Amino acid sequence: MVYIGRFAPSPTGPLHFGSLLAALASYLDARAHHGRWLVRIEDLDTPRVIQGATDDILRTLEDYGLEWDDAVIRQSDRLHLYHEALTQLRQRHQAYPCDCSRQQIRQRTGSSRYDGHCRRHPPNPQHVCAIRSHNPQDYPFDDQIQGPQSFPAQIEDFVIFRRDGFFAYQLAVTIDDAEQQINHIVRGSDLLDSTPKQRHLQQQLGYPRPIYAHIPVATNTQGQKLSKQTLAPALDRHHARQQIIRALQFLGQQPVTELHDCRLDECLRWAIEHWNISAIPKQIGLILEDN
Ligand code: GLU
Ligand code: ZN
Repeated sequence: MVYIGRFAPSPTGPLHFGSLLAALASYLDARAHHGRWLVRIEDLDTPRVIQGATDDILRTLEDYGLEWDDAVIRQSDRLHLYHEALTQLRQRHQAYPCDCSRQQIRQRTGSSRYDGHCRRHPPNPQHVCAIRSHNPQDYPFDDQIQGPQSFPAQIEDFVIFRRDGFFAYQLAVTIDDAEQQINHIVRGSDLLDSTPKQRHLQQQLGYPRPIYAHIPVATNTQGQKLSKQTLAPALDRHHARQQIIRALQFLGQQPVTELHDCRLDECLRWAIEHWNISAIPKQIGLILEDN
Protein backbone atom coordinates (compact mmCIF):
# COMPACT_ATOMS: atom_id res chain seq x y z
CA MET A 1 0.00 0.00 0.00
CA VAL A 2 1.40 3.38 -0.97
CA TYR A 3 1.86 5.88 1.83
CA ILE A 4 -0.37 8.97 1.45
CA GLY A 5 0.14 11.85 3.85
CA ARG A 6 -1.01 15.44 3.92
CA PHE A 7 -0.63 18.95 5.29
CA ALA A 8 -3.94 20.69 5.95
CA PRO A 9 -3.48 24.37 6.83
CA SER A 10 -6.34 26.74 7.57
CA PRO A 11 -5.94 29.99 5.59
CA THR A 12 -6.40 32.23 8.62
CA GLY A 13 -3.02 33.89 8.17
CA PRO A 14 0.52 33.23 6.92
CA LEU A 15 2.47 30.12 7.90
CA HIS A 16 4.53 30.50 11.09
CA PHE A 17 7.21 28.32 12.65
CA GLY A 18 4.60 26.07 14.30
CA SER A 19 2.95 25.37 10.96
CA LEU A 20 6.36 24.75 9.38
CA LEU A 21 6.94 21.95 11.90
CA ALA A 22 3.70 20.22 10.88
CA ALA A 23 4.33 20.79 7.18
CA LEU A 24 7.94 19.60 7.35
CA ALA A 25 7.29 16.56 9.57
CA SER A 26 4.41 15.35 7.40
CA TYR A 27 6.43 16.00 4.23
CA LEU A 28 9.56 14.20 5.46
CA ASP A 29 7.62 11.22 6.81
CA ALA A 30 5.83 10.86 3.45
CA ARG A 31 8.99 11.22 1.35
CA ALA A 32 11.00 8.90 3.61
CA HIS A 33 8.32 6.27 2.93
CA HIS A 34 8.45 7.01 -0.83
CA GLY A 35 4.90 8.17 -0.35
CA ARG A 36 2.68 10.91 -1.67
CA TRP A 37 2.18 14.22 0.13
CA LEU A 38 -0.98 16.24 -0.46
CA VAL A 39 -1.94 19.76 0.53
CA ARG A 40 -5.50 20.57 1.52
CA ILE A 41 -6.73 24.05 2.38
CA GLU A 42 -9.18 23.96 5.30
CA ASP A 43 -11.20 27.06 4.56
CA LEU A 44 -14.61 26.12 5.96
CA ASP A 45 -14.59 28.55 8.87
CA THR A 46 -15.24 31.42 6.49
CA PRO A 47 -15.33 34.25 9.05
CA ARG A 48 -11.74 33.39 10.05
CA VAL A 49 -10.42 33.02 6.49
CA ILE A 50 -8.08 35.83 5.44
CA GLN A 51 -8.10 37.02 1.87
CA GLY A 52 -4.91 36.02 0.11
CA ALA A 53 -3.75 33.63 2.86
CA THR A 54 -4.12 30.51 0.69
CA ASP A 55 -1.84 31.91 -2.03
CA ASP A 56 0.58 33.09 0.59
CA ILE A 57 0.72 29.65 2.25
CA LEU A 58 1.26 27.86 -1.06
CA ARG A 59 3.99 30.27 -2.11
CA THR A 60 5.73 29.83 1.22
CA LEU A 61 5.63 26.03 0.85
CA GLU A 62 7.19 26.44 -2.59
CA ASP A 63 9.88 28.74 -1.25
CA TYR A 64 10.64 26.12 1.40
CA GLY A 65 11.01 23.44 -1.28
CA LEU A 66 8.06 21.42 0.06
CA GLU A 67 6.60 20.19 -3.21
CA TRP A 68 3.23 18.52 -3.02
CA ASP A 69 1.63 15.91 -5.26
CA ASP A 70 -1.71 16.28 -7.06
CA ALA A 71 -3.81 19.43 -7.17
CA VAL A 72 -4.39 21.34 -3.94
CA ILE A 73 -7.95 20.85 -2.75
CA ARG A 74 -10.05 23.39 -0.90
CA GLN A 75 -12.74 22.34 1.54
CA SER A 76 -15.02 25.15 0.38
CA ASP A 77 -15.31 23.31 -2.97
CA ARG A 78 -16.47 20.11 -1.30
CA LEU A 79 -19.57 21.06 0.67
CA HIS A 80 -21.62 18.48 -1.24
CA LEU A 81 -19.48 15.67 0.21
CA TYR A 82 -19.99 16.86 3.77
CA HIS A 83 -23.68 17.33 3.13
CA GLU A 84 -24.03 13.78 1.85
CA ALA A 85 -22.27 12.29 4.87
CA LEU A 86 -24.32 14.41 7.27
CA THR A 87 -27.55 13.24 5.65
CA GLN A 88 -26.39 9.65 5.90
CA LEU A 89 -25.54 10.00 9.59
CA ARG A 90 -28.89 11.62 10.32
CA GLN A 91 -30.84 8.97 8.44
CA ARG A 92 -29.10 6.29 10.45
CA HIS A 93 -29.77 8.17 13.71
CA GLN A 94 -26.05 8.53 14.30
CA ALA A 95 -26.45 12.29 14.57
CA TYR A 96 -29.18 14.54 15.94
CA PRO A 97 -30.11 18.24 16.11
CA CYS A 98 -29.36 20.33 19.18
CA ASP A 99 -30.44 23.91 19.90
CA CYS A 100 -28.66 24.33 23.23
CA SER A 101 -26.64 27.48 23.71
CA ARG A 102 -23.26 27.38 25.45
CA GLN A 103 -24.84 29.15 28.35
CA GLN A 104 -27.60 26.54 28.71
CA ILE A 105 -25.04 23.75 28.67
CA ARG A 106 -22.99 25.51 31.31
CA GLN A 107 -26.05 26.07 33.48
CA ARG A 108 -27.03 22.40 33.34
CA THR A 109 -23.62 20.80 33.69
CA GLY A 110 -21.39 23.42 35.28
CA SER A 111 -18.92 22.85 32.43
CA SER A 112 -18.70 23.22 28.68
CA ARG A 113 -19.06 19.47 28.17
CA TYR A 114 -22.31 18.53 26.46
CA ASP A 115 -24.69 16.27 28.38
CA GLY A 116 -26.68 14.73 25.51
CA HIS A 117 -29.78 16.74 26.45
CA CYS A 118 -31.30 16.96 22.95
CA ARG A 119 -30.69 13.27 22.34
CA ARG A 120 -33.39 12.67 24.97
CA HIS A 121 -35.42 15.85 24.37
CA PRO A 122 -35.50 16.61 20.65
CA PRO A 123 -35.65 20.38 19.98
CA ASN A 124 -38.38 22.23 18.19
CA PRO A 125 -37.67 21.67 14.47
CA GLN A 126 -38.23 25.40 13.85
CA HIS A 127 -35.19 26.29 15.93
CA VAL A 128 -31.76 26.93 14.51
CA CYS A 129 -29.86 23.79 15.41
CA ALA A 130 -26.40 22.35 15.46
CA ILE A 131 -26.01 18.66 14.60
CA ARG A 132 -24.20 16.46 17.10
CA SER A 133 -22.67 13.06 16.76
CA HIS A 134 -24.65 10.42 18.63
CA ASN A 135 -23.07 8.85 21.68
CA PRO A 136 -19.41 8.41 20.69
CA GLN A 137 -17.20 6.05 22.67
CA ASP A 138 -13.59 6.48 23.65
CA TYR A 139 -11.25 5.19 20.96
CA PRO A 140 -7.89 4.47 22.52
CA PHE A 141 -5.14 4.57 19.91
CA ASP A 142 -1.41 4.24 19.68
CA ASP A 143 0.24 7.43 18.49
CA GLN A 144 3.57 6.99 16.73
CA ILE A 145 5.14 9.82 18.71
CA GLN A 146 2.97 10.30 21.80
CA GLY A 147 2.41 6.61 22.55
CA PRO A 148 -0.88 5.09 23.82
CA GLN A 149 -3.68 7.65 24.08
CA SER A 150 -7.20 7.71 25.42
CA PHE A 151 -9.49 10.54 26.46
CA PRO A 152 -12.37 8.99 28.43
CA ALA A 153 -13.04 12.21 30.34
CA GLN A 154 -13.61 14.17 27.15
CA ILE A 155 -16.22 12.01 25.46
CA GLU A 156 -19.29 14.00 24.50
CA ASP A 157 -21.77 14.23 21.66
CA PHE A 158 -19.59 16.62 19.67
CA VAL A 159 -20.76 19.07 17.00
CA ILE A 160 -20.45 18.00 13.36
CA PHE A 161 -22.53 20.84 11.92
CA ARG A 162 -22.44 24.21 13.62
CA ARG A 163 -25.42 26.30 14.64
CA ASP A 164 -23.99 29.17 12.60
CA GLY A 165 -24.37 27.06 9.48
CA PHE A 166 -20.83 25.72 8.92
CA PHE A 167 -19.71 22.12 8.73
CA ALA A 168 -17.48 21.41 11.72
CA TYR A 169 -13.78 20.67 11.38
CA GLN A 170 -14.21 17.12 12.80
CA LEU A 171 -16.62 16.09 10.06
CA ALA A 172 -14.86 17.72 7.12
CA VAL A 173 -11.39 16.51 8.07
CA THR A 174 -12.60 12.92 8.52
CA ILE A 175 -14.35 12.88 5.16
CA ASP A 176 -11.45 14.49 3.31
CA ASP A 177 -8.80 12.26 4.83
CA ALA A 178 -10.83 9.20 3.79
CA GLU A 179 -11.76 10.53 0.38
CA GLN A 180 -8.12 11.44 -0.38
CA GLN A 181 -7.08 8.01 0.92
CA ILE A 182 -4.77 9.53 3.52
CA ASN A 183 -3.33 6.65 5.53
CA HIS A 184 -0.77 8.57 7.64
CA ILE A 185 -1.61 11.72 9.56
CA VAL A 186 1.26 13.77 10.99
CA ARG A 187 0.08 16.97 12.71
CA GLY A 188 0.39 19.05 15.88
CA SER A 189 -0.37 17.53 19.28
CA ASP A 190 -2.98 20.24 19.89
CA LEU A 191 -5.17 17.93 17.76
CA LEU A 192 -4.51 14.76 19.79
CA ASP A 193 -7.88 14.83 21.51
CA SER A 194 -9.65 15.39 18.19
CA THR A 195 -8.44 11.99 17.05
CA PRO A 196 -11.02 9.89 18.98
CA LYS A 197 -13.79 12.04 17.49
CA GLN A 198 -12.45 11.48 14.00
CA ARG A 199 -12.05 7.76 14.71
CA HIS A 200 -15.69 7.66 15.80
CA LEU A 201 -16.83 9.25 12.54
CA GLN A 202 -14.52 6.95 10.55
CA GLN A 203 -16.21 4.00 12.15
CA GLN A 204 -19.72 5.31 11.56
CA LEU A 205 -19.00 6.15 7.93
CA GLY A 206 -17.15 2.89 7.27
CA TYR A 207 -13.78 4.52 6.56
CA PRO A 208 -10.39 2.91 7.13
CA ARG A 209 -8.29 4.00 10.10
CA PRO A 210 -5.13 6.03 9.36
CA ILE A 211 -1.92 5.87 11.40
CA TYR A 212 -1.41 8.94 13.61
CA ALA A 213 1.71 10.81 14.68
CA HIS A 214 1.30 14.02 16.69
CA ILE A 215 4.35 16.25 16.86
CA PRO A 216 4.96 18.52 19.87
CA VAL A 217 3.65 22.04 19.39
CA ALA A 218 5.97 25.01 19.52
CA THR A 219 5.29 27.67 22.13
CA ASN A 220 6.50 31.21 22.63
CA THR A 221 8.35 32.37 25.76
CA GLN A 222 5.02 32.79 27.54
CA GLY A 223 4.27 29.11 27.00
CA GLN A 224 1.49 29.85 24.53
CA LYS A 225 1.12 27.67 21.44
CA LEU A 226 2.50 29.45 18.39
CA SER A 227 -0.53 30.37 16.36
CA LYS A 228 -2.11 33.20 14.51
CA GLN A 229 -4.05 34.03 17.70
CA THR A 230 -0.83 34.49 19.68
CA LEU A 231 0.54 36.55 16.79
CA ALA A 232 3.33 34.17 15.84
CA PRO A 233 5.52 35.90 13.26
CA ALA A 234 5.09 34.82 9.63
CA LEU A 235 7.81 32.54 8.27
CA ASP A 236 10.61 34.43 6.60
CA ARG A 237 10.42 33.38 2.95
CA HIS A 238 14.03 34.39 2.30
CA HIS A 239 15.66 32.22 4.97
CA ALA A 240 14.06 28.89 4.17
CA ARG A 241 17.12 26.73 4.69
CA GLN A 242 17.97 28.24 8.08
CA GLN A 243 14.38 27.78 9.25
CA ILE A 244 14.28 24.20 7.99
CA ILE A 245 17.47 23.43 9.94
CA ARG A 246 15.94 25.02 13.02
CA ALA A 247 12.79 22.96 12.53
CA LEU A 248 14.86 19.78 12.15
CA GLN A 249 16.55 20.54 15.48
CA PHE A 250 13.19 21.04 17.10
CA LEU A 251 12.07 17.69 15.68
CA GLY A 252 15.07 15.95 17.26
CA GLN A 253 16.72 15.20 13.90
CA GLN A 254 20.26 16.44 14.71
CA PRO A 255 21.04 18.20 11.43
CA VAL A 256 24.77 18.10 10.67
CA THR A 257 26.64 21.42 10.55
CA GLU A 258 27.47 20.95 6.84
CA LEU A 259 23.80 21.62 6.06
CA HIS A 260 24.43 25.30 6.74
CA ASP A 261 26.49 25.42 3.54
CA CYS A 262 24.10 23.34 1.42
CA ARG A 263 21.43 24.34 -1.03
CA LEU A 264 17.84 24.03 0.17
CA ASP A 265 17.17 20.93 -1.96
CA GLU A 266 20.31 19.22 -0.62
CA CYS A 267 19.26 20.05 2.90
CA LEU A 268 15.81 18.52 2.33
CA ARG A 269 17.37 15.46 0.70
CA TRP A 270 19.56 14.97 3.78
CA ALA A 271 16.49 15.34 6.00
CA ILE A 272 14.53 12.70 4.03
CA GLU A 273 17.43 10.24 4.11
CA HIS A 274 18.01 10.71 7.83
CA TRP A 275 14.40 11.04 8.89
CA ASN A 276 13.83 9.32 12.21
CA ILE A 277 10.34 9.72 13.61
CA SER A 278 11.30 8.03 16.86
CA ALA A 279 13.76 10.86 17.60
CA ILE A 280 10.95 13.42 17.80
CA PRO A 281 10.43 14.51 21.41
CA LYS A 282 6.95 14.01 22.88
CA GLN A 283 6.90 17.47 24.30
CA ILE A 284 8.30 20.82 23.43
CA GLY A 285 12.01 20.38 22.88
CA LEU A 286 12.76 24.07 23.08
CA ILE A 287 10.91 27.25 23.75
CA LEU A 288 11.17 29.66 20.89
CA GLU A 289 12.25 33.25 21.23
CA ASP A 290 9.53 35.70 20.37
CA ASN A 291 10.74 37.87 17.57
N1 GLU B 1 -6.60 22.73 9.60
C1 GLU B 1 -6.11 22.33 10.88
C2 GLU B 1 -5.23 23.43 11.45
O1 GLU B 1 -4.71 24.24 10.71
C3 GLU B 1 -5.28 21.06 10.84
C4 GLU B 1 -6.10 19.88 10.60
C5 GLU B 1 -5.39 18.55 10.71
O2 GLU B 1 -4.18 18.46 10.47
O3 GLU B 1 -6.10 17.59 11.01
O4 GLU B 1 -5.06 23.46 12.66
ZN1 ZN C 1 -28.90 20.29 22.96
